[in-house]
Amino acid sequence: MTAFRIAACTGALAVLAGCAASVPRPPPAAAPAKPDLVVMVAVDQYSAALFNRWRSQYRDGLARLQREGIVYANAYQTHGLTATCPGHATLATGRTPAHHGLVGNAWYDGRAGRRVYCLAAPEYSDARGDPKALRVGPTNLVASTLGDWLKQASPGSRVVAVAGKDRAAITLGGHRADASFWYVEDFGFTTYVAKGEDPAAKLAPLAALNARVRNEYLPPPAWTYRHDECRALERVYRIGSTDWKSGLPPMVPAKPVEAAKPARALQVMDPLTLQAAFALLEHYRLGRRGVTDLLAISFSATDLVGHGYGTAGPEMCEQMYLLDDLFGQLLARLETLGVDVLLVLSADHGGTDFPERRALQGDAQARRIDGSALLRQLNAQLRQRLDLAYDPLFALDPMQLYAVDAAGRRLVEPLRSRVVDVALAALRARPEVAQAYALEQLLATPPRPVAPDAMTLRERFAQSVRAGRSADIVLAYQPGLVLVPARPTRYVTGHPGPYDPDRRVPIVFWWPGAPAQDRILPVATTDIAPTLAHLLGIAAPADLDGRCLELADFGTGPCPAAAAPPARR
Ligand SMILES: [Zn+2]
Repeated sequence: MTAFRIAACTGALAVLAGCAASVPRPPPAAAPAKPDLVVMVAVDQYSAALFNRWRSQYRDGLARLQREGIVYANAYQTHGLTATCPGHATLATGRTPAHHGLVGNAWYDGRAGRRVYCLAAPEYSDARGDPKALRVGPTNLVASTLGDWLKQASPGSRVVAVAGKDRAAITLGGHRADASFWYVEDFGFTTYVAKGEDPAAKLAPLAALNARVRNEYLPPPAWTYRHDECRALERVYRIGSTDWKSGLPPMVPAKPVEAAKPARALQVMDPLTLQAAFALLEHYRLGRRGVTDLLAISFSATDLVGHGYGTAGPEMCEQMYLLDDLFGQLLARLETLGVDVLLVLSADHGGTDFPERRALQGDAQARRIDGSALLRQLNAQLRQRLDLAYDPLFALDPMQLYAVDAAGRRLVEPLRSRVVDVALAALRARPEVAQAYALEQLLATPPRPVAPDAMTLRERFAQSVRAGRSADIVLAYQPGLVLVPARPTRYVTGHPGPYDPDRRVPIVFWWPGAPAQDRILPVATTDIAPTLAHLLGIAAPADLDGRCLELADFGTGPCPAAAAPPARR
């Protein structure tokens, strides 16, 4: 009956059926054109909590995006081990770390007995020609990206990425990027070169900016207040054995080198990243060549502020206003191009404020624990129980434990399984541990069609692991615990967790004339890449973890039918 009435009211019988008296619908917005330029922006450590805390305060670019765009303030990185390399790769590929392969910022190669940086790629070198520079490239990323699909469908399209961090630029650029640049202190922006490529030619698009960086931004300007509202958040906290003042300029640390680095970098990193994006827009004439181009930008300084000073103090307050200003500049610049632009904003992961401030604000769960002390105790138990002369567990971080022999190589069976079983039992008996899993359990976790906010801890971790790269044991601590030792002016907090503060991020889709909408349904960051592929009319792999979100008809029709959420494999 309902269906009939709707049909009658939208058909030729509308007037006869009395529908004309109903509230008139607003005229539909003009159908948007297929974008000439897609701009994908990630803000490193931009949690949904941070986004929502500042939404009403923004006045410039971020105010426009959240007022005019389609806003998902309740989106999720669906995986449980939340970090920069995995999160950016997920934005670019539409897959979780289990399927794009970058399971952490680093992992441990138990056969070689060494730590592997997520983007380590010995076949490339740094364009600066510095032999000590890390050799990085997209090799370890075992999935294709939106940029790769675009180049496949339209070889004339250009894909350009720029970021404060290499693990953001290279993952967003993908395997076939025309350029992936990241910021290096005291230099400017660098990139990777393959054998036979000319480093000077690869650096050429940003050579002029790099010269300016060295001449004008070193040393960087003093970090001072621009907003009284931020100054009002100053306060002294007792962190470990230190009375630490949260305020600007940052307190001078006992070891200047450690803290001076982030403090220096975050003065200039995001503004320079935007300058680099502008230079690349011009160099490649993005969006103005009759094909669709992709520009990916990751602003990294929010993450440095979060780690170094927390997420709720005067430092983050100033950073939020800086970002607002930078997004204002970005939108203004895009509008001068006179082409059809679509921008998407999201984050690689969220973040958590430091526990001492959270406790003062009434968070009863907020507490700092020493992950390495826990590991020492666990190893002592294992040595005794299994009569071993060495520590059989090794950790790059306290949530991922590798079973190793005396030489640091992967343990062989049956001892490996024995170590894992005894360690799991010991971990599960500890009050600070919420859950602990063997890698095999996670790899065997069956797929289930479930919304990202309803996933179990086990399902979240299952999205984060891959055989050959991931640890033998993955564990979650109780919500609210921070695993970073008390080292103010270096790192006061982290974000490795499987809980909402670290998983929940915003997604905003914006284009001129977008229908201003807030959508509260939980969606996944894996949905971004298939959504963009659909509206650009380019083919994406069929087995992505995300699904197309219905935004508007850009001439490619509605999303392919996908009534149920995809199985979270
Ligand atoms: Zn990050």
